[in-house]
Amino acid sequence: MPDIVVVGAGIVGAACAYHAARAGLDVEVVDRGPVAGGTTGAGEGNVLVSDKEPGPELDLALLSNRLWRDLADHVGGFEFEAKGGLVVAETAETLRGLTAAAALTGKRGVEHVTVTADELSDYEPHLAEGLAGGVLYPQDAQVQPMLAAARLLRRGAGSFGAGALAVRTGVTVTGFLRDGDRVTGVRTDRGDILAGAVVNAAGTWGGELAALAGVRVPVLPRRGFVLVTEPLDRPLVRHKVYTAAYVTAVASDSAGLETSAVVEGTPAGTVLIGASRERAGFDRALSVPVLGRLAAQAVALFPALAGRRVIRAYCGFRPYCPDHLPVIGEDPRAPGLYHACGHEGAGIGLAPATGHLIAQLLAGHRPDLDLAPFRPDRFGEEHP
Ligand SMILES: Cc1cc2nc3c(=O)[nH]c(=O)nc-3n(C[C@H](O)[C@H](O)[C@H](O)COP(=O)(O)OP(=O)(O)OC[C@H]3O[C@@H](n4cnc5c(N)ncnc54)[C@H](O)[C@@H]3O)c2cc1C
Repeated sequence: MPDIVVVGAGIVGAACAYHAARAGLDVEVVDRGPVAGGTTGAGEGNVLVSDKEPGPELDLALLSNRLWRDLADHVGGFEFEAKGGLVVAETAETLRGLTAAAALTGKRGVEHVTVTADELSDYEPHLAEGLAGGVLYPQDAQVQPMLAAARLLRRGAGSFGAGALAVRTGVTVTGFLRDGDRVTGVRTDRGDILAGAVVNAAGTWGGELAALAGVRVPVLPRRGFVLVTEPLDRPLVRHKVYTAAYVTAVASDSAGLETSAVVEGTPAGTVLIGASRERAGFDRALSVPVLGRLAAQAVALFPALAGRRVIRAYCGFRPYCPDHLPVIGEDPRAPGLYHACGHEGAGIGLAPATGHLIAQLLAGHRPDLDLAPFRPDRFGEEHP
């Protein structure tokens, strides 16, 4: 019998499993699909501290940023690039807002450098002219999320003395085993699995999984499209580059369509242009107007992208909670059930810290961060 069953083999489940195994626990990961077949396979891979306001999510992002660097050294193989993010402003007024925001997050440990209009081309030679300036965030980084999930699971399975890690794909969790209130394992379409504790890392489906245990955790889908260009013959974009409007779109509560392009090159030579945000349920239908808006915004930032071909577009569903914070911790309504879901558009970036904190709880240690803001029962029992 494993100490822990992790439901979900996305980046968050992989990070929980890796850290739990590293803490000496025996872990079994189950997923109804393949590794990284959920939203993790549809994300971009930004590891950002630049887009977060001071508060619990930023503290989580800073911890995660450090852990990603550690994982790059000790696990590796997932295209980690500590390339930095450049946030640009179209007007002097926006630049004042950007620098004021950077000064605030700077007090919490976010490194930043103010970039004047004249200096922009030193950082990004192909950037459009006429921008008012920007702020460079050296800690922003990039990973390949699917490789990262696979590498964490493989490394976790292969290396830590006491803790074993097994992964079973094609296994759907259909219910929970209980001893009174306490969760003692999962029911699956391949039989029951008894365990000391269960981790809900089911991403956008985390609310459905929680409901199987009789508890409410409101995770909703927030759709996003990403465009991928053909590989370019020479690198065009050095950092992650986005406009100040992106920060507003990320924090917005609007159900309507928001687009604000983040543009970045990849080691393969392609340019990733993401991403839109809208509440459209689980509708996968391709939206050409949305893709057109993203492409136009990317070309406005990097005019040399005009005429380059798009080879691929894909969409995914961010796991979105009404207060934009993830759900991390043991559920007091169902002891033995730990949630690690609802990371919205930052689950790649926040995965290592989430896994580390969950592993600390599972091993009976005091977590490095105060988890009160991420409490599973903070939403009450009202259904939307
Ligand atoms: C367009 C787009 C761009 C994004 N860009 C970024 C970015 O740049 N940086 C960033 O940090 N984040 C980004 N995100 C968000 C990020 O992708 C997610 O927050 C993250 O992937 C969530 O990971 P997860 O492991 O929680 O969920 P998932 O990867 O969805 O994993 C959950 C898994 O649970 C499994 N599952 C569900 N129910 C069951 C069940 N009953 N039984 C068994 N298995 C089950 C699913 O099959 C799935 O594999 C983006 C998202 C989108 C859509």
